[in-house]
Amino acid sequence: MDWSDSPEHRAFRDDVRAFIRERFPKNYSPDIHGHQSLEPEDVFGYNWVADRCSSDPDRREGAMAWAGALAERGWVAPHWPKEYGGAGLSVAEEHILSEEMARARVPQVNGIGVNLLGPTLIAHGSEEQRRQHLPKILSGEVTWAQGFSEPGAGSDLAALQTKAVREGDVYVVNGQKIWTTHAQYADWLFILARTDPDEPKHRGISMFLLDAKTPGVTVTPIEDMRGDVPFNELFFDDVRVPVANRVGEEHRGWYVAMATLDFERSGIGATVKYRRTLEDLVAWIRDREASRGRLRHHARDVVRHEIAQRLIEVEVLNSLALRTVSMQEAGQVPNVEASVNQLFSAELHQRIAATGMKAIGMWGGNWEHDGTPLEGFLAHKYLEAVPYTILSGTAEIQRNVIATRGLGLPRE
Ligand SMILES: Cc1cc2nc3c(=O)[nH]c(=O)nc-3n(C[C@H](O)[C@H](O)[C@H](O)COP(=O)(O)OP(=O)(O)OC[C@H]3O[C@@H](n4cnc5c(N)ncnc54)[C@H](O)[C@@H]3O)c2cc1C
Repeated sequence: MDWSDSPEHRAFRDDVRAFIRERFPKNYSPDIHGHQSLEPEDVFGYNWVADRCSSDPDRREGAMAWAGALAERGWVAPHWPKEYGGAGLSVAEEHILSEEMARARVPQVNGIGVNLLGPTLIAHGSEEQRRQHLPKILSGEVTWAQGFSEPGAGSDLAALQTKAVREGDVYVVNGQKIWTTHAQYADWLFILARTDPDEPKHRGISMFLLDAKTPGVTVTPIEDMRGDVPFNELFFDDVRVPVANRVGEEHRGWYVAMATLDFERSGIGATVKYRRTLEDLVAWIRDREASRGRLRHHARDVVRHEIAQRLIEVEVLNSLALRTVSMQEAGQVPNVEASVNQLFSAELHQRIAATGMKAIGMWGGNWEHDGTPLEGFLAHKYLEAVPYTILSGTAEIQRNVIATRGLGLPRE
């Protein structure tokens, strides 16, 4: 398979590079030490959400100006149809845009709204819901958080207990959510709640759109082991949600949610940022050896070998991502392939962090950003990499999908 650009794709890539050079706001420096991800290559549009609420006015205004520039081209949500403000790009063009943004270290915008809620509303929402919410996602005016998981419902999401009881024109919602990414910044939430407790658990669930300022909603931040606050608990206490805010049919929310999770799982691989981490690491080792002599002989051989291995694995991930792109180009829907990509990417993330820690030796225990190799990036990355085999489906769940749907192995 030839992965090189066609002449049209080459021209599109040049156009993207010129656009970023000309339009990325000069006074906008994204906060790479922000809450969700330490990586300058913000491929999920997570740091941007925090930048938009930053106390630094340059960062706040820069984040909004960048959203505006991308929106002019339909590049906030390049995969959405043009009629809803997307660019209607082909899958290959979308991949190139995402690759070039990561390479230039400029953030994606409004990740959860753009990648999860938007496509869900386009597929299952009412025309009124689309008209109300999609333009504000594109402009960056409104951000969203996904309230699916509960203390007793993660991998087994259908076990969720939050209840929504219909009373005339509203549903009254009571219950609790957990691990809700960026709910502390979110203006709106999309949640799952049980609307019929007597049905089997996959039925009787509905999806709702909920203004985060509705009386009875409490958002409680959760601090992770890095001391950052990437997620929250949500408590709903007699929260009144208009019936018009239900997405899709009553009791059929499970099927709407499965479509949302498919959008989550079909994300394009993060190869650019992994490759960049390894390149930065090699540059640091070269500098250090030039000024202070070789790393200890044994450690040097181990590190050399591991870095080479990681770079090979990045190429493997790149090929897996491109295979998914070519399937989508051919009109096929990746399913087990998305699980393979997600699992390989999450575990590679952790291996790269471990290799980096080995390479920097005693520096790995230093948490400060100033004066440490790569500004303490690897020590933070080492801890940040842990949840990657939990979020968007744990490693065990992905292996189950690969085993049963991919390899045809029996369930038991
Ligand atoms: C950083 C981060 C961000 C998140 N953001 C969000 C968010 O924005 N919105 C949201 O709704 N949720 C979010 N989540 C929650 C996430 O979806 C859940 O953590 C995940 O689905 C796992 O569920 P759980 O934590 O309840 O673990 P459990 O499902 O209880 O799993 C515990 C362990 O049991 C294993 N296990 C469970 N079932 C099986 C099985 N059938 N076969 C084999 N092993 C199994 C799991 O692999 C795991 O090792 C986030 C999580 C993280 C870590």
